[in-house]
Amino acid sequence: MTPQLKGKRVTVVGLARSGVAAARLCAREGARVTVTDRRAEEHLTGPLAALETAGVRRVLGGHDAEDFTRADLVVVSPGVPMALAEVVRARAAGVPVWGEVELAARFLAGVPIVAITGTNGKSTTTALAGALFARHRRTFTGGNLGTPLCQHVLDGGGAEVVVAELSSFQMEGLLSLRPRVAAILNVTPDHLDRYRDVDDYAAAKARLFGLQQPGDHAVANARDPRALAMAEASRAVLHTFGFGPPGPGARDPGLEPDEGGATELWVQARGGGPERFRLANRALRGRHNRENAMAAVLCARLLGVPGGEVQAGLDAFGGLPHRLEVVGERGGIEWVNDSKATNVDSTLVGLSAFPAGTARVVLVMGGRGKGAPYAPLRPLFAGRVKALLTIGEDAPAVERELGDLCPTEACVTLEAAVRRAAALVRPGDAVLLSPACASYDQFRNYEERGEAFRRHVAEFA
Ligand code: ADP
Repeated sequence: MTPQLKGKRVTVVGLARSGVAAARLCAREGARVTVTDRRAEEHLTGPLAALETAGVRRVLGGHDAEDFTRADLVVVSPGVPMALAEVVRARAAGVPVWGEVELAARFLAGVPIVAITGTNGKSTTTALAGALFARHRRTFTGGNLGTPLCQHVLDGGGAEVVVAELSSFQMEGLLSLRPRVAAILNVTPDHLDRYRDVDDYAAAKARLFGLQQPGDHAVANARDPRALAMAEASRAVLHTFGFGPPGPGARDPGLEPDEGGATELWVQARGGGPERFRLANRALRGRHNRENAMAAVLCARLLGVPGGEVQAGLDAFGGLPHRLEVVGERGGIEWVNDSKATNVDSTLVGLSAFPAGTARVVLVMGGRGKGAPYAPLRPLFAGRVKALLTIGEDAPAVERELGDLCPTEACVTLEAAVRRAAALVRPGDAVLLSPACASYDQFRNYEERGEAFRRHVAEFA
């Protein structure tokens, strides 16, 4: 049932894109909207411009408790913790508290929602699943990635299926959203600044499955015990994917043999037979992307996207920027931008996506370190990395922990590293920017770092 917001006092907390869309939607529905953010006005010029004509009241640079306890509804942006004191007090006072996604879902009754979550791989899987569905039906792809769901509603809706990336933060504000398909990729310690421990974090993600009904579909990586346990608690039909024990014949439902360099992909829906797809697309290289692809393909097949369309979508998928993105290819040399790899785990999966035994990778690493050791990368260097070029603040630590494994040079800047790489490479090599560090010492964010890499490659490669 579409919520009746006319004349209601609605407080929207958090003014990033999702909060702005939520505020505009409530205002359009005739609510008396207050927007509030702890940031001051001068940090919010973009969002405030988008709200100019919406006629909403603003409380900025902090919150007023009464806007919460005396509201008819509080809508919380995904970037705002539900544990915020004002939100907790609103709840205690009996005020309904919805996440931005919950608000949108109430306007999307009847549209099947495919919700994708996990610690890593959400954006890739959501974008791929969205692309697979889009070959078959009018599809909106968004949520945490790209366009907020409330913006889709504001734009008139009209999708026949919604594919949404949901972060654990967004899940905390879900009450009635019922995902026709909910998929969980993995659960590893992350965002522990906002949760007491990994179980608490997992509990936030588990909400998604708690909202499902019999006949819905739960999709989980069978090789991730936390992810699997969450999906098992759903009332929905459980389908699994993932790598099984190596070797032929080990393919229990939804599990495929773990063959390095395999160019095909198997999925199996519960009650169906195994289905094979070709996976020759470089945008989906690496074991982690094979998992992401299995999840996306299962989602699409469960809701009736024909196999031929799924295959065509897999072949055509262009990948996402800054995630093993090929930004240049000249003279048999590949230049790969993996700037999104801001921690050691991400560089680990990025580097593993290149074949071992040929030592064809010139690896660029460094930036603002996160205090985690780089040593876990050591086993991947042998036979893979031809040279290591370091940049940024944490270069000395990178060199100390990895520099004995291959020729290593301190380049300081990304520009110098690209110039140096151009001099080192031979046909058949790849230059991989996979920093294992944040970018803030030299760039505004990882996107800016990736764009700089793209520019330097165009200039020097
Ligand atoms: P998210 O939206 O969850 O951050 P992305 O698709 O943007 O996920 O991928 C972010 C990074 O996470 C990638 O650059 C890669 O290093 C890593 N990653 C992606 N998929 C997986 C996976 N299935 N398992 C482990 N790590 C992954």
